[in-house]
Amino acid sequence: MKLENTDDTHVVMIGAGIMSATLAVMLNKMNPQIKITIFEKLDAISAESSDPLNNAGTGHSGFCELNYTPEDENGNIDITKAVDTALAFEKSKEFWSFLIELGFFNSPEKFIRSVPHMSIVWGEDDVRFLKKRWNEMKQHPLFSSMEFSDDHEKLREWIPLIMKDRKEDEVMACTHMALGTDVNYGALSHMLILNLVMEESVDLQIAHKVKDIKKLQNGKWSIKVKNLTTDKSRTVQADFVFIGAGGGALRLLDKSGIEESKGFGGFPVSGQWLICDKPEIVKQHHAKVYGKAKIGAPPMSVPHMDSRFIDGQEKLLFGPYAGFSTKFLKHGSRLDFAKSLEFDNIMPILSAGIHNISLTKYLIGEVVKNKEDKMKTLREFFPNAKDENWKEEVAGQRVQIIKKDENGKGILQFGTEVVSSKDGTISALLGASPGASTAVKIMLDLIEKCFSENMPEWEIKLREMIPSYKNNNIDADYIRHSRIRTSAVLKLNVSE
Ligand SMILES: Cc1cc2nc3c(=O)[nH]c(=O)nc-3n(C[C@H](O)[C@H](O)[C@H](O)COP(=O)(O)OP(=O)(O)OC[C@H]3O[C@@H](n4cnc5c(N)ncnc54)[C@H](O)[C@@H]3O)c2cc1C
Repeated sequence: MKLENTDDTHVVMIGAGIMSATLAVMLNKMNPQIKITIFEKLDAISAESSDPLNNAGTGHSGFCELNYTPEDENGNIDITKAVDTALAFEKSKEFWSFLIELGFFNSPEKFIRSVPHMSIVWGEDDVRFLKKRWNEMKQHPLFSSMEFSDDHEKLREWIPLIMKDRKEDEVMACTHMALGTDVNYGALSHMLILNLVMEESVDLQIAHKVKDIKKLQNGKWSIKVKNLTTDKSRTVQADFVFIGAGGGALRLLDKSGIEESKGFGGFPVSGQWLICDKPEIVKQHHAKVYGKAKIGAPPMSVPHMDSRFIDGQEKLLFGPYAGFSTKFLKHGSRLDFAKSLEFDNIMPILSAGIHNISLTKYLIGEVVKNKEDKMKTLREFFPNAKDENWKEEVAGQRVQIIKKDENGKGILQFGTEVVSSKDGTISALLGASPGASTAVKIMLDLIEKCFSENMPEWEIKLREMIPSYKNNNIDADYIRHSRIRTSAVLKLNVSE
């Protein structure tokens, strides 16, 4: 479609999380004329998955996530997903740097900090894998500064808390990327949306729940929205709708009735953290340390021990422990899963269940874990962890996509997927991971897909905002220069 440059061009976004925030700013910077309304059912911005305590805050860059670099039966390690994620995160940093240089917002330390990204493994087999992975990755300019060590003295320097009171002969190893980051996606969403609101570029309506979406004969969308404070409903019209409703997106997409929405199902996975905010413990750890997923465990349940900066306070978060809940949103209803079942997705959902028995077993095992069981997993990382210093906290809810294949079977997917109508007038974001870190890349793909007729003009503007966009010369030199610039602007203390 083409978003016309007129005063009555209207875009509606459902949900005030990082995805709507990113798209709203991008569209506004390309065409300030476009009228944007964001409807958010809660009475706050980013109180679902984008809230800092609901996600892990990792600026996913492929540095530490061992599930992004699988090894095949011949011993070859595929680093494609790590490279793609790292390039996507570079785009995010370029976009945020552009906004700061433009004066749109300041104080990057409110949402991003340097925190080394590390992978940790135990035992001969996994140490061999990690070393091989490191040898492979450091050849690539995105990962050339990655370090490896299996020497306890070096490990004590990197992760003193984890190494405390360990036997000298314990076989273990780590990789270390000083360039890693911790990102508060909640603070970032606030800054992006509130600045647009203050500039009067966006009309934000909180406590407004979108109940229905219908296509009108005139080609526009009619959105039925309920004001949860007054209990009154009204309809508004839009030229383009973005369903950025997180776990609520699947049902709204289905209500839109577009052909492309058929056959999708959702599988909810809940999460829990163990959190420590004792300053004497917190100050002994400064890294995000990712382990390896247990057999049958979903990739997003890889345990990690993270330094986090939330509301001006440094904390340690360990987890997430996965589990099953029938809710699609943390503030959702227990009936969400049942209500998502339709004639065209019931078979794919059942077949995905049958083909993922090990995942189901794993999730049941996680659900029945009590605090002591969780402390046992934590003690694999931090042997001296004491119960009284760690409290349990519920994390955000993820809805993994189940997609129908050509034989009608359901495939469980762990990534994200943008589903758009053929005419490009409506688009929804489904799925969770790597999610917020790659919001800029996801929205670039959405813009290309939906606004193909605006692209000749917009492409030039997008390249000003994000220099690596459509750039075929992303070599070692480009990466070095881009990282020096973004680290300086974002006040990160490491650039290479
Ligand atoms: C445990 C966990 C750990 C994670 N860790 C990371 C990580 O380390 N790094 C990373 O990059 N990503 C991570 N993610 C993923 C990341 O949190 C998400 O990809 C991202 O926050 C999604 O943003 P969003 O804007 O799509 O959704 P959300 O932030 O969930 O926003 C959706 C909004 O839509 C609103 N809404 C829903 N239905 C309606 C309706 N009908 N009407 C109006 N409003 C509605 C909701 O209230 C909500 O505010 C993690 C997620 C989880 C759950």
